[in-house]
Amino acid sequence: MKPHAVMFHHFHDESKHPKVQGSISAERLDNMIQFLQANKVILSANEWLYKALQDKLKENEICLSFDDNLRCQFDIAYPILKKYNLKVFWFVYTSPLEGKLERLEIYRYFRTVYFENIDDFYHVFFDYIEESDYKFRVSKALEGFIPQNYLSDFSFYTDNDRTFRYIRDQILGPDDYRFLMDAMLKDYKVDLKSLRKKLWISKENIKELHNKGHMIGLHTHTHPTSIASLDINKQTNEYQINMKLLSEILGDYPVVMSHPCNSYNKNTIKLLKELKIKLGFRSNMKNNLNSMYEFPREDHANIIREMEQKS
Ligand SMILES: [Zn+2]
Repeated sequence: MKPHAVMFHHFHDESKHPKVQGSISAERLDNMIQFLQANKVILSANEWLYKALQDKLKENEICLSFDDNLRCQFDIAYPILKKYNLKVFWFVYTSPLEGKLERLEIYRYFRTVYFENIDDFYHVFFDYIEESDYKFRVSKALEGFIPQNYLSDFSFYTDNDRTFRYIRDQILGPDDYRFLMDAMLKDYKVDLKSLRKKLWISKENIKELHNKGHMIGLHTHTHPTSIASLDINKQTNEYQINMKLLSEILGDYPVVMSHPCNSYNKNTIKLLKELKIKLGFRSNMKNNLNSMYEFPREDHANIIREMEQKS
């Protein structure tokens, strides 16, 4: 296996942070770090970057990365990282720091907290489409759609996961998806304002991580689910604002990044070079290392599988 990062998103506990799709507990993370340390060498983010730039990484050398500046990571995972003295990558999208309630996370919270399970949400979502003006467009676009062939790199997705993502990203697009979801949130009486502090970390938290030797990287400003479908100006805007806000917080320019939802194209790579980013991460283990902006990452869900197979 090539040198790579392990990618983390959500964590849950007994009190503040509910279980969401794919979330893990502090104990699970603790076990996972022990499992990884038994089999591989976990480098600090700094060291991993340094070696990657010199092309000196060994096969068994990995690093850890946390995407999306989530409060649950700071509350639950950060204490475990301290315990093992691990310094990791944190890829931060900046709009929540400006007080914007980014829908991506709000919707994730909604669909996992307000429903018994994710399939219940999917059923209601598919029903909403049936009742909406998008009905015809969606059913036409789904003709001949084979879920297994979509996002096939992400082996742990179910058919419903794939169909949902296909409708969201390829058929509806951001504006219509948002319109539909916001209608649902209204029907379910979700209190949006209370969610900001619950879901994301603050500027102070980011500063603390930076001061403790963790490495903060870019992850766009508003976290589009498919940045590759945006024109170069919009893409540039996403990363420029992200760079500006983070460098103001850190007093330093970030030199690393990860691609939200693994989405990027030639324009993205061009603009990252212009922003003097040195290294970027994908969101899967596909070996497409055509540039310094496509280092592979293993989803933590796949590590859990490996642990279960070996135990
Ligand atoms: Zn992300």
